[in-house]
Amino acid sequence: MKKCINCGADNKNENTFCSTCGGSNFESPYSTDAPGVQPPLPVPPQPPVYGEPRKPFGIFDVFTILGFVSSIVGLMCIWVVLEPLAMVSSILGFFKGGRYKGLAAAGFVIALIAFIIQLFTALYNGNVIGKWAIEGVLH
Ligand SMILES: [Zn+2]
Repeated sequence: MKKCINCGADNKNENTFCSTCGGSNFESPYSTDAPGVQPPLPVPPQPPVYGEPRKPFGIFDVFTILGFVSSIVGLMCIWVVLEPLAMVSSILGFFKGGRYKGLAAAGFVIALIAFIIQLFTALYNGNVIGKWAIEGVLH
């Protein structure tokens, strides 16, 4: 239902003219057909968001992605190159890139852990360090 501004009569929402006075000015429609259903409130215009705008995709975001991919690929091959590359790339991406900081952090952590494990395994295999140095607490 909607109320005529001229005479105050209730009119059907689909009415173009008031059935009582013939006026064409109505208040905003409201519903009496479905109790509990409120007419939608007018949405105030959103003020422009000041502060830091979402940064565009930049070159350092490429480093983030490169770092993460390198950390994963390095788990399978050429870790001695890929994991350090992943760490450097992830650090650059984390601090200089505007996006994907979580991905950068993940890439760095994966690369760091993989690098340490592989480094100590390599040192052990080269008889630089003893077995005691690479044993884990749980075995
Ligand atoms: Zn009217």
